[in-house]
Amino acid sequence: MAHEETAKPGAGARLLIRNIGLLLSGDLRQPILDADTVLVKDGKIAAIGREKDVDTEGAARVIDANGTTLAPGLIDSHVHPVAGDWTPRQNQIGWIDSCLHGGVTTMISAGEVHMPGRPKDVVGLKAMAITAQRAFAALRPSGVKVLAGAPVIEHGMVEEDFRSLAEAGVRLLGEVGLGSVKDGPTARQMVAWARKHGMQSTIHTGGPSIPGSSLIDKDVVLAADADVIGHVNGGHTALPDGQIRSLCEESTRALEIVHNGNERAALFTLRTASELKQLHRIILGTDAPAGSGVQPLGIIRVIAALSSVGEIPTEVAFCFATGNTARMRNLDSGLIEVGRAADFVFMDAAQHSAGKTLLESVRLGDLPGIGMVVIDGEIRSERSRNTPPATRLPKIVK
Ligand SMILES: [Zn+2]
Repeated sequence: MAHEETAKPGAGARLLIRNIGLLLSGDLRQPILDADTVLVKDGKIAAIGREKDVDTEGAARVIDANGTTLAPGLIDSHVHPVAGDWTPRQNQIGWIDSCLHGGVTTMISAGEVHMPGRPKDVVGLKAMAITAQRAFAALRPSGVKVLAGAPVIEHGMVEEDFRSLAEAGVRLLGEVGLGSVKDGPTARQMVAWARKHGMQSTIHTGGPSIPGSSLIDKDVVLAADADVIGHVNGGHTALPDGQIRSLCEESTRALEIVHNGNERAALFTLRTASELKQLHRIILGTDAPAGSGVQPLGIIRVIAALSSVGEIPTEVAFCFATGNTARMRNLDSGLIEVGRAADFVFMDAAQHSAGKTLLESVRLGDLPGIGMVVIDGEIRSERSRNTPPATRLPKIVK
């Protein structure tokens, strides 16, 4: 388990990535870019183009992508972290490092709900949210950006609580519905206060996830109007199809599909969103750690499922876990665009996949082989210890 302080590459450090076989942008409007070279400066994308058109001089580090596919690092929109790289949910250490090996470079907390003895009084829950925000801002397990500090709202909170949380640096609300607030009007009021003070919100959708949690149906979800309709496919128990359809039709908020949810409901959501031309609202999460454990490959498994069984082009399915989430969540990563964070995953078709290319193999339902993960321009892992082996691997030239 690698616990590391936030990495700060040297000023002006340049990373050159050349010989990219396929460049996925993360942008639904143009998911494939016509380029084979990416230049990184100070951890940000500085240039994208053909090698002959990019200023390749003076790079401190050079990676030959060796014809592999480069995509933005994957974003898990729904995790439940607690402390560093340990989760008490299944008493596991190193789960975030395992997810890095699944291509995940950013995780967003939907509440630190597994904290043993989690405080539910207002002072206590605020203190815990601020502590989680500070702790994960100061320490990135294996370099992964964990955006945490997501308080679960409880009855008795007033606008001043949201103002003071925001002032202290808390930018998220944990899943509405996991605390005592389960009714539409109270949730709506608190979500509005959070929004007014610059905090983003998410809501639990569907049946209770574990003993002690409850049903949140479409009426509560619509009334609350949180920014993210958390696990629209249930976590695990999904709402009836008619209710999921209402959420697609009557709301404009993000439709989050999670690995630890109902697969049939995930496909129903995908088809409904596609029919309504609302694919830009689809974002992906694992909802891990949870009762069903930790899924290091959860995000690429959902991408492969939506692409193959859901019959969505692979390059589009990758946008769900990258650019869509980045836009919905106002992140500086998730897109291959000049000025964005240099968070990348290198992939190729897994060895012996029936698909000849990365896109074809995932479309057939195979997981890609991950060859390298880069965060803020720093190489964080090389050949994945968790995916099937990739046919080709990127090489570090210098
Ligand atoms: Zn939930």
